[in-house]
Amino acid sequence: MNKYDVIVIGGGPSGYTSAIYLGRAALSVLVLAGAQPGGQLVFTSEVENFPGFTKGIMGPDLMMAMEAQAKRFGVEVLYKEVSKVDLLKETKSVWVDETEYQANAIIVSTGATSKMIGIGEEAYVGRGVSTCAVCDAAFFKGKKTFVVGGGDAAMEDTMALLKFADEVTIVHRRDEFRASKIMQDRVLSNSKVKVMWNSEVVGVSGESKLSSIKVKDIKTGKISEQQLDGLFVAIGHVPTTKMFEGILELDEKGYLRTTMTALMRDVKWRVSEKDMWLDGFPTMTSVDGVFGCGDVVDYRYRQAITAAGMGCQAALDAEKYLTEHK
Ligand code: NAP
Repeated sequence: MNKYDVIVIGGGPSGYTSAIYLGRAALSVLVLAGAQPGGQLVFTSEVENFPGFTKGIMGPDLMMAMEAQAKRFGVEVLYKEVSKVDLLKETKSVWVDETEYQANAIIVSTGATSKMIGIGEEAYVGRGVSTCAVCDAAFFKGKKTFVVGGGDAAMEDTMALLKFADEVTIVHRRDEFRASKIMQDRVLSNSKVKVMWNSEVVGVSGESKLSSIKVKDIKTGKISEQQLDGLFVAIGHVPTTKMFEGILELDEKGYLRTTMTALMRDVKWRVSEKDMWLDGFPTMTSVDGVFGCGDVVDYRYRQAITAAGMGCQAALDAEKYLTEHK
């Protein structure tokens, strides 16, 4: 039987950080990193804001370093997708195809994916297309950029770009933003911002990198070609939680709920606030022994460093849980 102290599902910054901590605590750990391990960072080029790398580091290199660091402490890593889980018993089971793996605790760090428009822009990610302005705005100094979306993320991306880009044009499919009023006001009061209302991006083109987009005015049907250096897609995220539906409690958008996130939203859930900090497990999900960390939990910050930090928290909680349940 393939039995471990902890199985980590997901191989991004949160998953690998939890594995490093657990491996170093002399626990047996299996990381099921998925068929394409490394999380969203493998689609990023240079990462300049992860502390410790004065000259920046390429996203895939950062992930390979995290994996090597986990393996140094005896962590096993499989590049496999989980097909099924049974988490409700004291001993948890996870299947990869027909093979069953068991553990006394599970860390879910399956991440989230950025929604894309679906017009071929995926091919230009890292070459003019980005889904994270906080990460990439600094590469667009003096450039012409477009943001797609009308929510808080689109406003936040626009604000991040305004520090560097010469021009920021927001393309939004309706005639009003969904974003909070305060964020809208900040964006709309800036003279460098233009908005193309009732419009959608219907085409992308460029040789080695993105150089122009086609924007359709939904009301008139007229299509215009826009030259640009960067296109920031901010139309929402989808957490990877399908396999946990009906097993772990999810919020209304499908994100994994943990004690900490429930309390952040001022919801009384599972334990009192006092108990959570003194005795509880802030990263525990609705099922005992199952912990959540990274973008599958965090709809707000979504940074590699915040995911890694939460991975550390989940590992410490899992370790404490295992000690208490020996
Ligand atoms: P969101 O609030 O769901 O907004 C998504 C936006 O993208 C909407 O304006 C939507 O248009 C548009 N959109 C969706 N699918 C599209 C498509 N296929 N083509 C074109 N446009 C499309 O998502 P979000 O902005 O990522 O925010 C997610 C959550 O995080 C929200 O609760 C938000 O408040 C929070 N957040 C907060 C902050 C902050 O407070 N600083 C920052 C970022 C995010 P419609 O409006 O027409 O539906």
